[in-house]
Amino acid sequence: MSAATTVELDQGRCRGYGICVSILPDVFDLPADSKVAVLLRDEVDADDVDDLEESVRACPAQAIIQGARSI
Ligand code: SF4
Repeated sequence: MSAATTVELDQGRCRGYGICVSILPDVFDLPADSKVAVLLRDEVDADDVDDLEESVRACPAQAIIQGARSI
C-alpha cells in the first residue's frame, strides 16, 4: 500500500498573502474576488511534495495542512 499526499487549506486562518500561489500555482489560487486562497485540488503529485512542504513552512498564517491518504 502506498500513500498519496493530500493538502487542506484552512480558509479561516488564511490571510491571502499569496505565498502559496507563487510556490505551487497548480494547487493554490487567489481569485481576484477572494480575500483568501482556494485549493485547485486536494492531492499533490509526488513531484510537488517538496514544494508543498515549502508552502506549509512559508505560510505566515499556518493555514496549509499536509496529509496522506492510503491508496
Ligand atoms: S500563504 Fe497561507 S495565508 Fe497566504 S494565501 Fe497561502 S494559505 Fe493563505
